[in-house]
Amino acid sequence: MYLILLGPPGAGKGTQAKMLAERYRVPQISTGDILRVAVAAGTPLGKEAKTYMDRGALVPDEVVIGIVRDRLTEPDCQGGYLLDGFPRTVAQVEALTRMLRELGVPLPTVVSLDVGEEEVVRRLAGRRTCQACGEPFHVEFHPARLEGVCDKCGEDLIQREDDKEETIRRRLQVYREQTEPLIGYYQTQGLLETVNGLGETGEVFARISSKLEGRVDKAAAP
Ligand code: AMP
Repeated sequence: MYLILLGPPGAGKGTQAKMLAERYRVPQISTGDILRVAVAAGTPLGKEAKTYMDRGALVPDEVVIGIVRDRLTEPDCQGGYLLDGFPRTVAQVEALTRMLRELGVPLPTVVSLDVGEEEVVRRLAGRRTCQACGEPFHVEFHPARLEGVCDKCGEDLIQREDDKEETIRRRLQVYREQTEPLIGYYQTQGLLETVNGLGETGEVFARISSKLEGRVDKAAAP
């Protein structure tokens, strides 16, 4: 399975990507996660990336393209991959297309998760994470038993710097301007499946799976 998940920040790409990667046994490549690990470790890459991430801007193309190129050449990506949060710009799409051609890897199916802006702001602004164990919470949809304290390990919950409302608005603007045009591009390539991203996690997962299975059937048809 060769898959790209597209969608605005807060569309549920990360959650769906984890479930899909497990179901189809492919590695999940999340550029956001890779960058956050580098930021937490304080590496030179992390220090550079943090200045962009904290204000809701995109990390420069050459940085993320390099990360994805290194990751796609690892042996576990030979039989498939799931890209989550990449590509996000026209330059990234072009680099990815070239990379896949060079590696002799099939073109991906692109799933676009469709969620309106107000819903995205509601989801992201309420997101909290345990600073010690990383357990996710949400003030509205999945509150901690004791406000601000992790149910699992008792440490403090924090809000991601880029989940503050002003930064969310900026990230959405960046999405509209730089990433949304990729939907049209992949549509003309015949690679796009659009999925309604509203509702329970399980419902959205079922919608995506049925689209993917439909595609496999179509590809298999004479
Ligand atoms: P995410 O967790 O995917 O929302 O990514 C968090 C932040 O990491 C983004 O707001 C960007 O600053 C950065 N980032 C992640 N993926 C990319 C990408 N493909 N291109 C540029 N910046 C990225």
